[in-house]
Amino acid sequence: MTRHTPNRPGSAKQAPTKTANGPQNAATPARVPTHDLARHPAKDALAWAHTARFYITAAQLHQVPVSELPEVAFVGRSNAGKSTAINTLAQQRQLAYASKTPGRTQHINLFHLGPKAAPNQLWTDLPGYGYAAVERSAKLRWQEVMASYLEVRRNLSAVVQMVDSRHGLTELDRQLLEFVTPRVRSGEVKLLVLLTKADKLNRKEQAESLRKAQEVLADLVTEESDVNITLFSSLNKSGVGDVAEVLHGWAASPEVAEALAAAQAAPDVLPDAWDDQSQSEDDQA
Ligand code: GDP
Repeated sequence: MTRHTPNRPGSAKQAPTKTANGPQNAATPARVPTHDLARHPAKDALAWAHTARFYITAAQLHQVPVSELPEVAFVGRSNAGKSTAINTLAQQRQLAYASKTPGRTQHINLFHLGPKAAPNQLWTDLPGYGYAAVERSAKLRWQEVMASYLEVRRNLSAVVQMVDSRHGLTELDRQLLEFVTPRVRSGEVKLLVLLTKADKLNRKEQAESLRKAQEVLADLVTEESDVNITLFSSLNKSGVGDVAEVLHGWAASPEVAEALAAAQAAPDVLPDAWDDQSQSEDDQA
Protein backbone atom coordinates (compact mmCIF):
# COMPACT_ATOMS: atom_id res chain seq x y z
CA MET A 1 0.00 0.00 0.00
CA THR A 2 1.38 3.36 -0.93
CA ARG A 3 0.30 6.87 -0.20
CA HIS A 4 -0.09 9.25 -3.05
CA THR A 5 0.57 12.92 -3.07
CA PRO A 6 -1.52 14.83 -5.57
CA ASN A 7 0.53 16.51 -8.22
CA ARG A 8 1.22 20.14 -7.84
CA PRO A 9 -0.42 21.71 -10.86
CA GLY A 10 2.18 22.17 -13.53
CA SER A 11 4.87 20.27 -11.69
CA ALA A 12 6.42 16.92 -12.46
CA LYS A 13 4.57 13.95 -11.06
CA GLN A 14 5.81 13.06 -7.61
CA ALA A 15 6.60 9.46 -6.99
CA PRO A 16 4.31 7.95 -4.39
CA THR A 17 6.31 7.45 -1.26
CA LYS A 18 5.74 6.27 2.23
CA THR A 19 8.01 8.83 3.78
CA ALA A 20 7.77 12.02 1.73
CA ASN A 21 5.35 13.56 4.19
CA GLY A 22 6.30 11.67 7.28
CA PRO A 23 6.91 14.26 9.98
CA GLN A 24 7.96 11.36 12.14
CA ASN A 25 11.15 11.20 10.13
CA ALA A 26 11.91 14.87 10.48
CA ALA A 27 11.38 14.61 14.23
CA THR A 28 13.50 11.50 14.68
CA PRO A 29 16.00 11.94 17.49
CA ALA A 30 19.53 11.39 16.18
CA ARG A 31 20.34 8.80 18.84
CA VAL A 32 17.80 6.26 17.52
CA PRO A 33 19.55 3.82 15.20
CA THR A 34 18.07 4.16 11.73
CA HIS A 35 17.85 0.41 11.14
CA ASP A 36 15.36 0.16 14.02
CA LEU A 37 13.22 2.85 12.46
CA ALA A 38 13.34 1.11 9.13
CA ARG A 39 12.13 -2.10 10.66
CA HIS A 40 9.45 -1.05 13.12
CA PRO A 41 7.73 2.23 12.29
CA ALA A 42 4.37 0.68 11.40
CA LYS A 43 4.47 -1.61 14.43
CA ASP A 44 5.30 1.27 16.75
CA ALA A 45 2.63 3.42 15.15
CA LEU A 46 0.00 0.70 15.55
CA ALA A 47 0.99 0.21 19.19
CA TRP A 48 0.58 3.94 19.65
CA ALA A 49 -2.79 4.00 17.84
CA HIS A 50 -3.96 1.20 20.13
CA THR A 51 -3.65 3.61 23.08
CA ALA A 52 -6.67 5.55 21.75
CA ARG A 53 -9.24 5.96 24.53
CA PHE A 54 -12.47 7.84 24.89
CA TYR A 55 -11.99 11.32 26.30
CA ILE A 56 -15.24 13.24 26.04
CA THR A 57 -18.39 13.62 23.99
CA ALA A 58 -19.89 16.98 23.07
CA ALA A 59 -23.41 17.65 21.86
CA GLN A 60 -22.47 21.15 20.78
CA LEU A 61 -19.38 22.80 19.52
CA HIS A 62 -18.82 25.03 22.51
CA GLN A 63 -18.77 21.96 24.74
CA VAL A 64 -15.65 20.69 23.00
CA PRO A 65 -12.89 21.39 25.49
CA VAL A 66 -10.10 23.74 24.60
CA SER A 67 -6.90 21.86 23.97
CA GLU A 68 -3.38 22.61 22.90
CA LEU A 69 -2.78 19.05 21.72
CA PRO A 70 -2.43 18.42 18.00
CA GLU A 71 -5.93 17.43 16.94
CA VAL A 72 -6.87 15.19 14.05
CA ALA A 73 -10.47 15.47 12.85
CA PHE A 74 -12.07 12.45 11.18
CA VAL A 75 -14.77 13.42 8.71
CA GLY A 76 -16.78 11.65 6.05
CA ARG A 77 -20.17 10.97 4.56
CA SER A 78 -22.41 8.63 6.53
CA ASN A 79 -21.58 5.07 5.64
CA ALA A 80 -18.15 5.94 4.20
CA GLY A 81 -16.57 3.64 6.78
CA LYS A 82 -15.39 6.27 9.27
CA SER A 83 -16.27 4.47 12.50
CA THR A 84 -14.89 1.21 11.18
CA ALA A 85 -11.67 2.92 10.10
CA ILE A 86 -11.17 4.53 13.53
CA ASN A 87 -11.78 1.19 15.24
CA THR A 88 -9.43 -0.56 12.82
CA LEU A 89 -6.66 1.98 13.33
CA ALA A 90 -7.04 1.72 17.10
CA GLN A 91 -7.42 -2.07 16.88
CA GLN A 92 -10.43 -1.81 19.15
CA ARG A 93 -13.90 -3.06 18.44
CA GLN A 94 -16.06 -0.29 19.76
CA LEU A 95 -14.04 2.84 20.19
CA ALA A 96 -16.07 4.74 17.63
CA TYR A 97 -19.69 3.76 17.29
CA ALA A 98 -21.39 3.41 13.98
CA SER A 99 -24.64 5.28 14.45
CA LYS A 100 -27.56 2.92 14.30
CA THR A 101 -29.80 5.63 12.96
CA PRO A 102 -27.64 7.77 10.72
CA GLY A 103 -28.53 11.41 10.74
CA ARG A 104 -30.12 11.58 14.15
CA THR A 105 -28.57 14.12 16.51
CA GLN A 106 -24.95 13.17 16.51
CA HIS A 107 -22.25 14.01 18.93
CA ILE A 108 -18.66 15.01 18.54
CA ASN A 109 -16.51 12.38 20.19
CA LEU A 110 -12.95 13.00 21.28
CA PHE A 111 -10.23 10.46 21.98
CA HIS A 112 -6.81 10.79 23.57
CA LEU A 113 -3.72 9.02 22.31
CA GLY A 114 -0.30 8.43 23.77
CA PRO A 115 0.80 7.98 27.38
CA LYS A 116 -2.02 8.29 29.94
CA ALA A 117 -0.15 10.92 31.94
CA ALA A 118 0.81 12.96 28.89
CA PRO A 119 -1.43 12.43 25.86
CA ASN A 120 0.19 13.54 22.61
CA GLN A 121 -2.72 13.72 20.16
CA LEU A 122 -6.48 14.17 20.06
CA TRP A 123 -8.74 12.41 17.60
CA THR A 124 -12.09 14.03 16.97
CA ASP A 125 -14.82 11.97 15.37
CA LEU A 126 -17.15 14.49 13.74
CA PRO A 127 -20.72 13.65 12.72
CA GLY A 128 -21.07 11.95 9.35
CA TYR A 129 -22.76 14.00 6.67
CA GLY A 130 -24.94 13.47 3.64
CA TYR A 131 -27.59 11.17 5.02
CA ALA A 132 -30.46 11.70 2.62
CA ALA A 133 -33.35 11.40 5.08
CA VAL A 134 -32.13 14.22 7.31
CA GLU A 135 -34.39 17.25 7.17
CA ARG A 136 -33.05 20.43 5.64
CA SER A 137 -32.74 22.41 8.88
CA ALA A 138 -30.63 19.64 10.40
CA LYS A 139 -28.38 19.66 7.35
CA LEU A 140 -27.90 23.41 7.60
CA ARG A 141 -27.18 23.13 11.28
CA TRP A 142 -24.62 20.44 10.56
CA GLN A 143 -22.96 22.67 7.96
CA GLU A 144 -22.63 25.48 10.47
CA VAL A 145 -21.09 23.19 13.05
CA MET A 146 -18.59 21.72 10.61
CA ALA A 147 -17.70 25.08 9.12
CA SER A 148 -17.12 26.61 12.56
CA TYR A 149 -15.11 23.67 13.74
CA LEU A 150 -12.91 23.31 10.68
CA GLU A 151 -12.38 27.02 10.23
CA VAL A 152 -11.61 28.07 13.77
CA ARG A 153 -10.58 25.12 15.92
CA ARG A 154 -7.20 26.54 16.80
CA ASN A 155 -5.28 23.35 17.58
CA LEU A 156 -6.63 21.50 14.52
CA SER A 157 -3.56 19.90 13.04
CA ALA A 158 -5.03 17.61 10.41
CA VAL A 159 -8.20 16.41 8.75
CA VAL A 160 -8.62 12.76 7.79
CA GLN A 161 -11.44 12.51 5.30
CA MET A 162 -13.04 9.14 4.61
CA VAL A 163 -14.28 8.76 1.05
CA ASP A 164 -15.82 5.57 -0.32
CA SER A 165 -13.32 4.48 -2.98
CA ARG A 166 -16.17 3.35 -5.24
CA HIS A 167 -17.83 6.75 -5.30
CA GLY A 168 -14.88 9.14 -5.03
CA LEU A 169 -15.18 12.67 -3.68
CA THR A 170 -18.79 13.74 -3.95
CA GLU A 171 -20.13 17.27 -4.07
CA LEU A 172 -20.67 17.17 -0.30
CA ASP A 173 -17.13 15.99 0.31
CA ARG A 174 -15.87 18.92 -1.72
CA GLN A 175 -18.11 21.34 0.15
CA LEU A 176 -16.69 20.08 3.40
CA LEU A 177 -13.15 20.57 2.13
CA GLU A 178 -13.99 24.13 1.20
CA PHE A 179 -14.43 24.97 4.88
CA VAL A 180 -10.85 24.07 5.56
CA THR A 181 -9.25 24.85 2.20
CA PRO A 182 -7.45 28.07 3.25
CA ARG A 183 -5.87 26.31 6.22
CA VAL A 184 -4.86 23.33 4.09
CA ARG A 185 -3.37 25.48 1.38
CA SER A 186 -1.33 27.46 3.91
CA GLY A 187 -0.04 24.24 5.48
CA GLU A 188 -1.63 25.02 8.85
CA VAL A 189 -3.85 21.94 8.59
CA LYS A 190 -2.73 18.73 6.93
CA LEU A 191 -5.12 16.63 4.86
CA LEU A 192 -5.20 12.88 4.45
CA VAL A 193 -7.92 11.34 2.30
CA LEU A 194 -8.64 7.66 2.85
CA LEU A 195 -10.27 5.92 -0.10
CA THR A 196 -12.16 3.40 2.00
CA LYS A 197 -13.48 -0.10 1.26
CA ALA A 198 -10.68 -0.52 -1.28
CA ASP A 199 -11.21 -4.28 -0.99
CA LYS A 200 -14.32 -3.82 -3.10
CA LEU A 201 -12.27 -2.63 -6.09
CA ASN A 202 -9.90 -4.52 -8.35
CA ARG A 203 -6.43 -3.13 -9.01
CA LYS A 204 -7.45 -1.20 -12.09
CA GLU A 205 -10.40 0.37 -10.30
CA GLN A 206 -8.19 1.25 -7.34
CA ALA A 207 -5.74 3.05 -9.62
CA GLU A 208 -8.61 4.92 -11.24
CA SER A 209 -10.07 5.87 -7.85
CA LEU A 210 -6.70 7.25 -6.78
CA ARG A 211 -6.24 9.14 -10.02
CA LYS A 212 -9.64 10.82 -9.76
CA ALA A 213 -9.09 11.81 -6.14
CA GLN A 214 -5.68 13.22 -7.02
CA GLU A 215 -7.32 15.32 -9.70
CA VAL A 216 -9.88 16.76 -7.27
CA LEU A 217 -7.32 17.48 -4.58
CA ALA A 218 -4.75 19.06 -6.90
CA ASP A 219 -6.33 22.45 -6.20
CA LEU A 220 -5.43 22.19 -2.54
CA VAL A 221 -1.79 21.47 -3.14
CA THR A 222 0.69 24.31 -2.65
CA GLU A 223 4.34 24.52 -1.71
CA GLU A 224 3.29 24.65 1.94
CA SER A 225 0.51 22.09 2.00
CA ASP A 226 0.65 18.49 3.19
CA VAL A 227 -2.03 16.63 1.23
CA ASN A 228 -2.08 12.85 0.86
CA ILE A 229 -4.41 10.18 -0.42
CA THR A 230 -4.32 6.48 0.26
CA LEU A 231 -6.38 3.43 -0.49
CA PHE A 232 -7.67 1.93 2.74
CA SER A 233 -9.53 -1.18 3.74
CA SER A 234 -10.65 -2.07 7.23
CA LEU A 235 -11.60 -5.47 5.88
CA ASN A 236 -8.22 -6.60 4.58
CA LYS A 237 -6.23 -4.02 6.56
CA SER A 238 -4.55 -2.50 3.54
CA GLY A 239 -3.26 1.00 4.22
CA VAL A 240 -3.74 0.64 7.98
CA GLY A 241 -0.05 0.55 8.92
CA ASP A 242 0.75 3.47 6.63
CA VAL A 243 -2.05 5.61 8.01
CA ALA A 244 -1.08 4.78 11.60
CA GLU A 245 2.45 5.90 10.76
CA VAL A 246 1.26 9.19 9.36
CA LEU A 247 -0.94 9.87 12.39
CA HIS A 248 1.85 8.88 14.75
CA GLY A 249 4.13 11.31 12.96
CA TRP A 250 1.68 14.10 13.77
CA ALA A 251 1.74 13.45 17.52
CA ALA A 252 3.33 15.98 19.85
CA SER A 253 6.85 15.20 21.04
CA PRO A 254 7.13 13.75 24.57
CA GLU A 255 8.56 17.06 25.81
CA VAL A 256 5.62 19.06 24.44
CA ALA A 257 3.06 16.50 25.66
CA GLU A 258 4.54 16.54 29.15
CA ALA A 259 4.59 20.33 29.27
CA LEU A 260 0.94 20.43 28.18
CA ALA A 261 -0.06 17.83 30.75
CA ALA A 262 1.77 19.79 33.46
CA ALA A 263 0.08 23.04 32.39
CA GLN A 264 -3.32 21.36 32.51
CA ALA A 265 -2.65 20.06 35.99
CA ALA A 266 -1.81 23.54 37.24
CA PRO A 267 -5.09 25.36 38.00
CA ASP A 268 -3.75 28.82 37.25
CA VAL A 269 -2.36 27.97 33.81
CA LEU A 270 -5.29 27.78 31.47
CA PRO A 271 -5.17 27.63 27.70
CA ASP A 272 -6.73 30.44 25.71
CA ALA A 273 -10.51 30.47 25.52
CA TRP A 274 -12.24 28.70 22.67
CA ASP A 275 -12.87 31.16 19.91
CA ASP A 276 -15.78 33.41 20.88
CA GLN A 277 -17.15 33.58 17.40
CA SER A 278 -17.77 29.85 17.17
CA GLN A 279 -19.48 29.85 20.52
CA SER A 280 -21.88 32.62 19.65
CA GLU A 281 -22.62 31.08 16.26
CA ASP A 282 -23.35 27.81 17.94
CA ASP A 283 -25.60 29.42 20.54
CA GLN A 284 -27.60 31.21 17.87
CA ALA A 285 -28.30 28.06 15.88
P1 GDP B 1 -19.65 5.45 8.96
O1 GDP B 1 -21.10 5.82 8.84
O2 GDP B 1 -18.82 6.28 8.04
O3 GDP B 1 -19.12 5.45 10.36
O4 GDP B 1 -19.51 3.98 8.35
P2 GDP B 1 -19.32 2.57 9.10
O5 GDP B 1 -17.96 2.47 9.68
O6 GDP B 1 -20.47 2.34 10.00
O7 GDP B 1 -19.38 1.58 7.83
C1 GDP B 1 -20.48 1.56 6.97
C2 GDP B 1 -20.61 0.18 6.35
O8 GDP B 1 -19.46 -0.09 5.54
C3 GDP B 1 -20.68 -0.94 7.38
O9 GDP B 1 -21.59 -1.91 6.91
C4 GDP B 1 -19.26 -1.50 7.40
O10 GDP B 1 -19.23 -2.86 7.75
C5 GDP B 1 -18.84 -1.29 5.95
N1 GDP B 1 -17.38 -1.13 5.85
C6 GDP B 1 -16.62 -0.29 6.55
N2 GDP B 1 -15.32 -0.40 6.20
C7 GDP B 1 -15.26 -1.35 5.24
C8 GDP B 1 -14.20 -1.92 4.47
O11 GDP B 1 -13.01 -1.59 4.58
N3 GDP B 1 -14.54 -2.86 3.55
C9 GDP B 1 -15.83 -3.27 3.37
N4 GDP B 1 -16.05 -4.19 2.43
N5 GDP B 1 -16.84 -2.77 4.09
C10 GDP B 1 -16.58 -1.82 5.01
